[in-house]
Amino acid sequence: MGNDRYDAVVVGAGPAGSSAALTMAENNMSVLLLERGEYPGAKNVFGGTIYRQPTEIIVPAFWEEAPLERPITSEELWLLDNDSAVKIGFTGLRFAKPPYNKFTALRSKFDRWLADRAQKAGAHLVTNALVKDLIYEEYGARNRKVVGVLLGSGDRIYSDIVILAEGVTGNLAEIAGLRKKITPDSLTLYVKEILELPSDKIEERFNLEKGEGAILGMVGYPSSGAIGKGAVFTNKDSISIMVGAYLNQIIEKGLNPFMLMQRLKSHPIIKRLIEGAKTIEFQAHTIPKGGYKQIPRLSAPGLMVTGDAAVMIVGRRGTDLAMLAGKFAGETAAQAKAAHNFSEPLAAYDKKVSSSFFMHDIKAHRGTKDYYRRYPDADFLLTKAANDMAYEYFTVDMLPFNQKFEKIIGKIANLQPLPKTLADVYQGFFHWGVF
Ligand SMILES: Cc1cc2nc3c(=O)[nH]c(=O)nc-3n(C[C@H](O)[C@H](O)[C@H](O)COP(=O)(O)OP(=O)(O)OC[C@H]3O[C@@H](n4cnc5c(N)ncnc54)[C@H](O)[C@@H]3O)c2cc1C
Repeated sequence: MGNDRYDAVVVGAGPAGSSAALTMAENNMSVLLLERGEYPGAKNVFGGTIYRQPTEIIVPAFWEEAPLERPITSEELWLLDNDSAVKIGFTGLRFAKPPYNKFTALRSKFDRWLADRAQKAGAHLVTNALVKDLIYEEYGARNRKVVGVLLGSGDRIYSDIVILAEGVTGNLAEIAGLRKKITPDSLTLYVKEILELPSDKIEERFNLEKGEGAILGMVGYPSSGAIGKGAVFTNKDSISIMVGAYLNQIIEKGLNPFMLMQRLKSHPIIKRLIEGAKTIEFQAHTIPKGGYKQIPRLSAPGLMVTGDAAVMIVGRRGTDLAMLAGKFAGETAAQAKAAHNFSEPLAAYDKKVSSSFFMHDIKAHRGTKDYYRRYPDADFLLTKAANDMAYEYFTVDMLPFNQKFEKIIGKIANLQPLPKTLADVYQGFFHWGVF
């Protein structure tokens, strides 16, 4: 294990943990990065996309060295019904060139690279190291401070600061009393398959030039009446397909995520995109979707919590927010070290997070989870309305236009009042996170 005393110990070598470790190592701190997996990223799952602007704050011009799949030039949201899809999208060829906009990536490669970056800056990485508990020291009248971690192996490592970047489960943040137990209505569960397909076939099927990438986000059909979504991401020579929904709805509606995957793969429109592709990996993971009300206390003496463990998720964005929050935690630790005070100054981390753009968004949409609890069929009704309307519009008939228009509006109003449909669209654009 090397030393048994460091300036800082980071729990979890996902994007949040490795960014925190990298930042602290760059500030000449001695850092131990502990990862329970066989290697960083071994247990980590996302759709997914890495976003250029936030990521280059962690590693400038990262696209020149990071293991990325394709720069994304085309994105679509599909309101997918049984045999039709209303598609909203954008193709931007400017995004095919440096400095790009976003990229598809595979976490098993990306997380390994980022942890390697932290190691090159001087952090010490230990894998197969499960942190079981925190070690405390009493100070003052009735105060206590985190002074290290206890590993599953029984080893004790001491440090001035511990940063918890343990992901969605947040067990240690819970043990430390920073976070409440996470409930199924605050989690979404996704299953994902990686399907092997030659790059020229991907480009032909998704209408891409060589090397370019596309993403499809889908609501309606994929989650079978629950609030969730499906998505397809193009990698270099594979396609990632995923589907999922709120965990409480999966349970209550008796949905089986593995069957949702089979159902999505055999949808008549999706089938054409993945024809002949071979499944090479199957994964499942949860996302913390509790929103603002679930954000834990972010620091305590000697301790900070970051990334998914601190519920830093906005729409589809999570990896970048984890990296930025990890960097904030790392910077705060460096300042605390410079001030030789590891207790109160950690509140500076709370301030950095509170004034970030993503906390602004998380706060602004704090009602989303409750909205979907009240209207669990919102996406389903919206998709149905949009597709009924489109069938009506695109069917060539012999009605005068004003009658056709009335018929179209009637189709939507038949399902639910128009203002509710507009509210579903508003909530959806924040929640789906497809762009
Ligand atoms: C299906 C899906 C699709 C997604 N799509 C996107 C997307 O397209 N774009 C995007 O930006 N985000 C996406 N996200 C969200 C994103 O993956 C997360 O927000 C991000 O991974 C959070 O990073 P993290 O470092 O906080 O946690 P994680 O990536 O979960 O890393 C936590 C690490 O801690 C380790 N660990 C946990 N407990 C311990 C312990 N006790 N001891 C030692 N190690 C421990 C774990 O093994 C893991 O390596 C998606 C998530 C899912 C599930």
